Amino acid sequence: MTSAKGYAALNVQSPLAPFNFARRDPGATEIVVEILYCGVCHSDLHSVRNEWKDSIYPMVPGHEIVGRVVAAGRAVTGFKVGGIAAIGVIVDSCRQCAKCRAGEENYCEKIPVLTYNGIDLVDGTVTKGGYANNYVVDERFAYHVPENLNLAAVAPLLCAGITTYSPLRRWKAGPGKKVGIVGLGGLGHMGLKFGHSLGAHVVQFTTSLKKRDDAIRLGADEVVHSTDKDAMKAHTNSFDFILDTVSAPHSLDPYTALLKSDAVMTVVGLPETFPVVDMTILINKRASLAGSMIGGVPETQEMLDYCGQHNITCDVEVIPIQEINEAFERMLRQDVKYRFVIDMSSLS
Ligand code: NAP
Ligand code: ZN
Ligand code: ZN
Repeated sequence: MTSAKGYAALNVQSPLAPFNFARRDPGATEIVVEILYCGVCHSDLHSVRNEWKDSIYPMVPGHEIVGRVVAAGRAVTGFKVGGIAAIGVIVDSCRQCAKCRAGEENYCEKIPVLTYNGIDLVDGTVTKGGYANNYVVDERFAYHVPENLNLAAVAPLLCAGITTYSPLRRWKAGPGKKVGIVGLGGLGHMGLKFGHSLGAHVVQFTTSLKKRDDAIRLGADEVVHSTDKDAMKAHTNSFDFILDTVSAPHSLDPYTALLKSDAVMTVVGLPETFPVVDMTILINKRASLAGSMIGGVPETQEMLDYCGQHNITCDVEVIPIQEINEAFERMLRQDVKYRFVIDMSSLS
């Protein structure tokens, strides 16, 4: 066994606190990663507080991981001890179903194994995530990081990055397309950067007027205060694609009303509850409402390579792990620019 230390929630009420545990030894195709940085995703907060009703405690959250390879199984070919590796939201899958064979392991028909709060296919234990000093993962689910990018600012690409990149690519955000991003948080600011980089006309929707200047700096062509009914109405029937990244329950209808005929709105935000959707808005213009979950292994590597080529990283606030509970509270107050990242050297 490999000893590990990190921060865990012991139950639904407890704040995160220091926690020692063990990881299994790496198999032939697995690597041990000493974690340097781990991003703080709103999913970590939802999970720690059992908002999705499936949390298993003690829980070590964290699925936006960048680190250094410190050991490798004998059959590992893609990573060397001493090199950098990244780990995202999933660490295994059945590897056999049609989705896995197509490189869409995130939609594995037998449920992909989550980096934390999942069931390890090797030993049946509950997976523990990246708010810790190390992780053991099959090299098939580890990624190469472009050398020109800052490692702390890369970490959130492993979830916030791929979760926005994937639907923007699928629905062909690009020149001549009007794209809306709803919510300017960790996911939203990456959706904005990617939409802009892909050449779309990007409109940022926000409830926080104070984020207007940041939105422009991050690449927005327009910023709309989403509670301003007139400002919203001015965009009726004009969008080719809208990406909703909001973490709290809210109505989708004010946004579907802004879609053109045949256009698509994809929801990636996972609030505790979803509202009833007014289908007539969609029916009247043959528009679609879609969902999307992170991305598969090949597309995640493609996203990282794209970020290397276009020099794209996340805007981060690096914190010591001792500040994680305060960071959760600040995230809930929409007071983060735009992703907290834990510097894991603070653990020792
Ligand atoms: P975040 O950094 O906290 O950002 C969420 C944003 O939502 C906020 O910045 C805010 O934007 C907006 N918002 C918050 N409360 C709101 C409210 N009451 N009404 C309207 N807008 C509100 O969260 P995140 O890490 O980006 O994650 C966003 C959501 O995506 C979470 O639910 C997370 O679990 C989910 N997620 C899904 C996937 C997937 O694969 N589908 C992957 C990762 C995360 P403004 O201040 O601009 O309004
Ligand atoms: Zn996440
Ligand atoms: Zn599968």
